[in-house]
Amino acid sequence: MLCNIALRTSSRRILSTASSHTKRAASTRAFKQTEQETRKYLPLMAASAMGCFGLLSLQRSVEEEETKNAQCLFGAEKKADDVEQKFATYWPRNIMILFGPPGAGKGTHGPKIEDLLGIPQLSTGDMLRAAVSAKSEVGLKAAAVMKAGGLVSDEIVIGIIRDRITEPDCKFGFILDGFPRTLVQAQELDKMLSEEGACVTKVVELQVPDGVLEERICGRWIHKKSGRSYHVKYAPPKSMKTDGSGAPVPESMKDDETGEALMQRPDDTAAALVKRLNGYHGETVPILDHYKPNGVVSKVNANQGMDGVWGEVLDALKRGGN
Ligand code: AMP
Repeated sequence: MLCNIALRTSSRRILSTASSHTKRAASTRAFKQTEQETRKYLPLMAASAMGCFGLLSLQRSVEEEETKNAQCLFGAEKKADDVEQKFATYWPRNIMILFGPPGAGKGTHGPKIEDLLGIPQLSTGDMLRAAVSAKSEVGLKAAAVMKAGGLVSDEIVIGIIRDRITEPDCKFGFILDGFPRTLVQAQELDKMLSEEGACVTKVVELQVPDGVLEERICGRWIHKKSGRSYHVKYAPPKSMKTDGSGAPVPESMKDDETGEALMQRPDDTAAALVKRLNGYHGETVPILDHYKPNGVVSKVNANQGMDGVWGEVLDALKRGGN
């Protein structure tokens, strides 16, 4: 491109030089200058014309090459579009459930799976929090239950997911985070998928003992806009300052990338966690038995360093993975 601009500029310069020489020659004739003087300009004119011709043909070949490249790129793009269309039409969607108690790391590893597979992570918790912030009808209904660590009604979350999975970014599949949370939700999910001949293709269960979750949840700080998650002990923001007792100073909790204030979720408290864990063991864990007979459930030890967890997640995602 730069090369082409340079060529165009220099050919424009040569063209203007050539035209000034041509004008000069014309005025030479007009004022009947001597043959000798005219001869003086001839080689220059010829050189300019040849240079100009050479440059013009060089420029033409560059342009032809560019057109060819563009056609080639366009062809490659079209081929990629065709392949995409074939996958979207004939291949089953990749439908994953990222499973685990609050604080297991679904929000940490979900985006990495998103990047790896190119399918979106759908977090019902995030969608509900957005509804609460927007003060929509759903948000107003859900706010109090969420703050207390209870479960929002099946009807509401099933409705949210039913709409979301029809969006274009879900055409190759999606990663469910925080859904289904009850057997009714799992059965409804199966039903809506069966309408297109699809089913859940993988459940990745992040296993963490309850005992370590309180520290994880109560030390968690979040950048609301991006969803980036920090932890006072394991992943503190660069700006964090602590008071005399070692507790973080809230005003110092800032997002590393934007410098914006971090927040703690209203349900990330020890009291709400008790309720959330009761809900998890009582209503959510039975979903694993629902999917086990299909051979799609993989366990991951999420009570280890992040790299170790990610390694196991990758193994679980492989065809025929653990
Ligand atoms: P999460 O971000 O997944 O921890 O979800 C936060 C809160 O949103 C939960 O504690 C519930 O109150 C609510 N929630 C999210 N997903 C569901 C769901 N599938 N069913 C019922 N409530 C949900």
